[in-house]
Amino acid sequence: MDQRLIISVALTGGGTSKEANSAVPITPEEIAADAVACCKAGAAVAHIHCRDKQGRATMDAGVFQEVVTMVKNALQEERLDMIINLTTSGGPATDEERLLHLKSLQPDMCSYDVGTFNWGNMFVFENSPKFLKMLGECVVQNNVKPEMEIFDGGMIGNADYYIKKGYITGNPHYQFILGVSGGLDGTVENLVFLKNKLPQNATWSCSGIGKCHMPMLLASIAMGANGVRVGLEDNIYYSKGELATNEMLVSRAVRIAKECGRTVATAEDTREILGLRKKGI
Ligand code: ZN
Repeated sequence: MDQRLIISVALTGGGTSKEANSAVPITPEEIAADAVACCKAGAAVAHIHCRDKQGRATMDAGVFQEVVTMVKNALQEERLDMIINLTTSGGPATDEERLLHLKSLQPDMCSYDVGTFNWGNMFVFENSPKFLKMLGECVVQNNVKPEMEIFDGGMIGNADYYIKKGYITGNPHYQFILGVSGGLDGTVENLVFLKNKLPQNATWSCSGIGKCHMPMLLASIAMGANGVRVGLEDNIYYSKGELATNEMLVSRAVRIAKECGRTVATAEDTREILGLRKKGI
């Protein structure tokens, strides 16, 4: 087993407001500052969503350009290295608009949500076959590593389909996101079920949403995950009633990983483990 653990931080997400937790980074400056702080604390990957001036989720490629440029400059100033993973599901947009930022920015990684479901009984989290085909062609053409976000059991079969189609090249990488109502609950039983369905050459990571954040982090590390995801997109609390910051969540994951005998993967380790393209290419 690879002892290195990749810590991803989902900094902002699309829905969490400043009213819920004032530490949620919204502006490009805030997102860049949090990326730097989390990288220093041990996160190797920044999973990024963008917001408009009103704080609403947006897929505007111009805003992504501004945010990613600011994040990269801030990291460079501190001589830090971090993998950039951009969402493809952040806010209302056409299928075409969901891909524009991948084409213009060619990030190291992007989310690839392999299916559709009723998110929290509030809205349809729509990832149609047409969109997934377009996204598959886009990641291959732009050499972006897709991270297949798995919210429900059936999505594993969809992932198999897109691997077979040639849209997921190299070793497939999965991010289990458990505990969203409408998808699978964050339980050890569900995590074991999903992990056992992965192809032999898969790498995987997990995040529990809300109250299952810690149980899923602990179970993932115990099960030998390649990575864990933490961050205010997924969970705004450090403990019951105590609000978190992104840095606090990363620091805790680092401490737990070390206590469990894992080493914390650097960005360079992460490129090797996930088969990402080399730095600067
Ligand atoms: Zn996300």
